[in-house]
Amino acid sequence: MVEAIYKSTREERERWIKEAKYNLFNLKSDHVFIDLLTDSGTGAMSDKQWARLMLGDESYAGARSYHALKDAIREILGFEFFLPAHQGRAAENVLYSTIVRAGDVLPGNSHFDTTKGHIEFRGATALDCTIDEAADTSLEIPFKGNIDLARLEAALKKYPREKIPAVVLTVTNNTAGGQPVSMENIREVSRLCRRHGVPLQMDSARFAENAYFIKTREKGYENRSIKEIVKEMFSFVDIMTMSAKKDAIVNMGGFVAFRSEELWKRCQMFCIMNEGFITYGGMSGRDMNALAGGLDEGTEWDYLESRVRQVAYLGEKLDEYGIPYQRPAGGHAIFVDAARILTRVPREEFIAQTLAIELYLEAGIRGVEIGAILADRDPVTRENRYPRLELLRLAFPRRTYTNNHVDVVAAALKNVHDRRERVTRGYVITKELPIMRHFTVELDVAG
Ligand SMILES: *Cc1c(COP(=O)(O)O)cnc(C)c1O
Repeated sequence: MVEAIYKSTREERERWIKEAKYNLFNLKSDHVFIDLLTDSGTGAMSDKQWARLMLGDESYAGARSYHALKDAIREILGFEFFLPAHQGRAAENVLYSTIVRAGDVLPGNSHFDTTKGHIEFRGATALDCTIDEAADTSLEIPFKGNIDLARLEAALKKYPREKIPAVVLTVTNNTAGGQPVSMENIREVSRLCRRHGVPLQMDSARFAENAYFIKTREKGYENRSIKEIVKEMFSFVDIMTMSAKKDAIVNMGGFVAFRSEELWKRCQMFCIMNEGFITYGGMSGRDMNALAGGLDEGTEWDYLESRVRQVAYLGEKLDEYGIPYQRPAGGHAIFVDAARILTRVPREEFIAQTLAIELYLEAGIRGVEIGAILADRDPVTRENRYPRLELLRLAFPRRTYTNNHVDVVAAALKNVHDRRERVTRGYVITKELPIMRHFTVELDVAG
């Protein structure tokens, strides 16, 4: 399916972004020309997935669509037990309501924002053990999403086993720039977890893109299929949470899957209370059917290659123009290094947000801030947390835009880059929620 997009004028965009309180989440999508806000639920489903929608079984319990999804999860991911949820954070809610208590510690590699939100909301700590190299955007290494094993081991030794309900391994590491985790790192993390008796949870939203990078970058995997690599990745894992809106190429859906039948049963209560009965948990039958198909299509080499190459294509354009970004290019997005472009904007005025607004004003392109607004306040001191990186994420919806659109994005960024010295002031917060403020924050021009 195709849809028309509207080319607005600069005057229109100036008005709209002001009305949106300088928060790009508040814009009407009709006021966006190329929408790279997120790759979540924004992809195009295939003819086969649309056909599967028609075959959805909407029985309350034990629907055929549930069993189709169950079969796909068993065959492609290797998990016997799962609970459907309406999206990834709902799966996290079901799991963490069951296993996380105040005072707990969950080590991981740059926890995703909703994951961190669910952990901190319960009075627990998300302990970031990502390798230090991830903070150097110009460093070109193949697996920048990895966990620092020494740091993880220190955490596992420091806290008693009953204080660590799980280690959270996120693939790919979104917050660090869509950077992959190597099979070797997954294996070693799993070994450490087993030695300390702590379950390993894989936050799996972009597991297929991670498998693509293992195949193309890790020695010994060149001749393995994506599906074989995926199976091996999950073989090291006890629990997986999944936002199906990413690599399963559906508009809505998610699930949590378990090795342990006992944990699956314990989690059922929160699934029934918050999501729905255990054989649909917040999803329609037709959506579970499309999701089962998406797991299969999303783990096909030809699809993954064209997707990841489109992101790499933008990276090559930015190289040509000398625009810094998190290197190498990630799986689902390019993360532009805002702090190295807008060097005159103070961090207290939100550098990456300022760049996001400049790009919108330039060409109606919507990206998202991965910086101090997203990092939120420290839950204890309530001070702003300033992360090591101020990034502007440009995430690509799956099977949606062509490389012509990418050319426009690159040219617009070049224009902003060319006038970077003239951008000296950013924005100040006028309104925010106590947790996950970035979605609804209101801003005004600084100064
Ligand atoms: C998107 C995402 C989530 C949350 O999933 P939603 O479907 O948006 O609720 C959790 N973890 C990661 C790594 C994600 O990318």
